[in-house]
Amino acid sequence: MAPVILVLNSGSSSIKFTLYAGTQVLLRGQVSGLGAEPHLTLKSHVSGEAVDRALNREEGETHAAALSALLPLLEAELGRRHVDAVGHRVVHGGITYSAPLRITENALYKLRSLIPLAPLHQPHNLAGVEAARAAFPKALQVACFDTAFHRKHPWVNDTFALPRSYYDEGVRRYGFHGLSYEFICSHLRERMPEAYAGRVVVAHLGNGASMCAIRDGQSIGSTMGFTALDGLPMGTRCGQLDPGVVLYLLTTKGMTAEEVSDLLYKNAGLKGLSGISQDMRTLSESDDPRAAEAIEYFVFRIRRELGAMAAVLGGLDTIVFTGGIGENSIPIREKVCDDLDWLGLKIDRDRNEAQEQDISAPGSAIRVLVIPTNEEEMIRRHTEALLQV
Ligand code: ADP
Repeated sequence: MAPVILVLNSGSSSIKFTLYAGTQVLLRGQVSGLGAEPHLTLKSHVSGEAVDRALNREEGETHAAALSALLPLLEAELGRRHVDAVGHRVVHGGITYSAPLRITENALYKLRSLIPLAPLHQPHNLAGVEAARAAFPKALQVACFDTAFHRKHPWVNDTFALPRSYYDEGVRRYGFHGLSYEFICSHLRERMPEAYAGRVVVAHLGNGASMCAIRDGQSIGSTMGFTALDGLPMGTRCGQLDPGVVLYLLTTKGMTAEEVSDLLYKNAGLKGLSGISQDMRTLSESDDPRAAEAIEYFVFRIRRELGAMAAVLGGLDTIVFTGGIGENSIPIREKVCDDLDWLGLKIDRDRNEAQEQDISAPGSAIRVLVIPTNEEEMIRRHTEALLQV
């Protein structure tokens, strides 16, 4: 029988979940507002039934409580079947983990030791793991890392120009969004092998945004670095920033580390620049010039990184747009690709408007693709593979 796999993405205040039987999605949903105003939304892809209701405080106090509240709904969907394995999105695999990992007590201990590398995400990911171990004690638990896809970066793209001891202790350019990039690569390998074999840049443009330079299916560079703050500006994160700005905030402005962290993670990016919203749809529909400027900066940074990645790759054959903005925003794709004839890139406006998969103009030396990403499916595949070992 097809294995039943639950995929969990546990964040600071939410758990997103997808339940699969083999490759079929049985249901999908999320608990949001953990610890504050917990709310459950869920949709069965089998019966079409939906749940959309507030949870009481106790049910939504912790990840463990939320999973317990969810259990009867999962069991109702499964009938006599049970969950064989749970696949978890875990942001950081550190230096050691370049592949998905079967979670044991010992592995969990090692993953906890990586909390200092991702203090805002790793503890919540691991809270989800512990909750799932308690809720499904017989199921295999698997950690799939956002950093794993990037672990073979060449040294120059892995290091900062700091004394060596920092590199040795793990201060490196890890890169994130690896599960998304891996999914796009597998899509290319299966359906467009000639593109897979070439020099590819993937732009994952969502609330979080990054770009990845890929050759022969391997990441050789990412715009994200030690944390998911670096590179492109995002919904609320700043993207590339002179470290001198952080020193200025700490010393001259007298801000605490926590205040700086809040500023850079939660109040910068599109939200900070526009003063209006972190949401690209809202900004695109706004007449306010600050919204237009925030979009202009977003596009400017993408184009800058694209040029850098083309140089690192020694040329470019394919660009893939993905993520909420990359998949849906016709004007952002157009602005990013505008006037790139010098690079040999031209998009077809009609194809772009029609949201086609291949939006390159005839004769464009560079193929421009729009491919929806699916990180949950990638976690499912990894989990199923370990289930069969
Ligand atoms: P996350 O990183 O949280 O998974 P998503 O990949 O869902 O985020 O992307 C969310 C972003 O995509 C938001 O800024 C949203 O406004 C944007 N987006 C979604 N649809 C559109 C659209 N049609 N036009 C412009 N932006 C869009």
